[in-house]
Amino acid sequence: MADTKYIFVTGGVVSSLGKGIISASLGKLLQARGYKVTIQKFDPYINIDPGTLNPYEHGECYVTVDGHEADLDLGHYERFLNVQTTRANNITTGRIYQSVINKERKGDYLGKTVQVVPHITDEIKRNVKLLGSKYKFDFVITEIGGTVGDIESLPFIESVRQLKWELGKNCLCVHLTYVPYIAAAKEYKTKPTQHSVKQLQELGIQPDVLVLRTEHELNANLLRKVALFCNVAEDSVIQSIDVPTIYEVPLVLQRQKMDEVVLRKVGMEVGPTPELKPWKEFLALKSTATDTVKIGLVGKYVELQDAYKSIDESLLQAAIYNHHKLDLHLFHSEKLNNENAAEQLKDMDGILIAPGFGQRGIEGKFAAIKYAREHDVPCLGICLGMQCMVIEFARDVLGLADANSTEMEPNTAHKVIDLMEEQKNVTNMGGSMRLGAYDCMLKEGSKVLEAYGKEHIQERHRHRFEFNNEYKKQYEAAGMMCTGENPETNLVEVVEIPALKWFVGVQYHPEYNSTVVNPNPLFLSFVKAAIENKK
Ligand code: GLN
Repeated sequence: MADTKYIFVTGGVVSSLGKGIISASLGKLLQARGYKVTIQKFDPYINIDPGTLNPYEHGECYVTVDGHEADLDLGHYERFLNVQTTRANNITTGRIYQSVINKERKGDYLGKTVQVVPHITDEIKRNVKLLGSKYKFDFVITEIGGTVGDIESLPFIESVRQLKWELGKNCLCVHLTYVPYIAAAKEYKTKPTQHSVKQLQELGIQPDVLVLRTEHELNANLLRKVALFCNVAEDSVIQSIDVPTIYEVPLVLQRQKMDEVVLRKVGMEVGPTPELKPWKEFLALKSTATDTVKIGLVGKYVELQDAYKSIDESLLQAAIYNHHKLDLHLFHSEKLNNENAAEQLKDMDGILIAPGFGQRGIEGKFAAIKYAREHDVPCLGICLGMQCMVIEFARDVLGLADANSTEMEPNTAHKVIDLMEEQKNVTNMGGSMRLGAYDCMLKEGSKVLEAYGKEHIQERHRHRFEFNNEYKKQYEAAGMMCTGENPETNLVEVVEIPALKWFVGVQYHPEYNSTVVNPNPLFLSFVKAAIENKK
């Protein structure tokens, strides 16, 4: 096997330029050429992982199959590459320091002063190379979070410099910048890009490829100027123009031969341009869809663009494969109640109740569920959304007015959702939930079995509370069935009301497992039911 090639993606000028999408798109293009590709994200903050951050700080928390609470960019990597990531794909400063400090306590550095250089940088480099040596990838793409010049990303940038020096041709730096348009001057400005490249150069890194984010097409002269002033080959200045969907970005990069540039630079044969057939078919379906399906998403973070990223993308994929455009409506759960729910939600073809933690906004979720249940509107509850379905049913159908989750009301008489046994002795908050992929067996005749087309599934989790099996008989007698269970523990994974058109709550998170070429069956089934509900 040829040496693993390491590609670093850094960003400059401003944040939020979409390094994750550029990394995922380049990964896609290389993968389409038959290479084994993985993408890794380094986050410069001190938290061990984003699991303890709230969505205001960091958007959605993504979960890998092996139970790592990860940056949401890993969701993009999986959606683009259709390859699962693991905890090795997301490293923070906190984790780097934790492992160095643990080694120090063990005595691994006995007699030595432990320093940022070389100990922290060595640990960073070890985590980059691990993906190449242990998992045998052809390409490891490493996205460095933050923007060049941030104090906290310096050790990562220094590690990139060292790796470029050590690995020579096998290592590249792709730098993403922004070219603003100054309306008053009617001009695009390349100075911020030049400054940002200078900053990288001062840190010892000459970028090999530049990607310029821009709102409109940049002309050849401007690109040539950037190449000249930034010391980058002309064919290596790529523009990334705003496109209607992130899934078009690989095509934008392919048209400019970014993958060929990369292959040539690392000394690999270029070969024929891949067709990206399934990808293009998906985009074609998207552009030809004319009918829309209206889905209402009920959650307490709906005003944040990234809080429900994987749910948004899963719904989009499901709508497209159902030949529809997604018309997503966001409902703030704190603003919904039994008085206004019917009026607010009346135009929705389907309603999705979002996951979450804590009391805030929960009553609005109950109101939305009650509306969906009483008006037979297709409804999908995810994690806390499922737990809310269970509580609402207890209160309104079983007549247990004080039914609740012990997360919200520890002393309630009817603990229909209760802390899992394994959680009772947990004291640390970080990484201690029931996390990652677990087995689930689906029951004969259920909507979920029909959706997945198989009895045995595996989906990812992130929770501490569960359905209280002591109430199972009562629920089933009243028409809410437990149709999916963990085979080892009997933990209830799925509830549904078969008398309704489509009313399913899942304790797991199907949204973490839905990719462009492999959309999640449960979302497909939910959106299909929503479309049928229109008729
Ligand atoms: N707060 C609930 C629990 O911990 C649900 C978590 C979630 O929605 N991810 O069980």
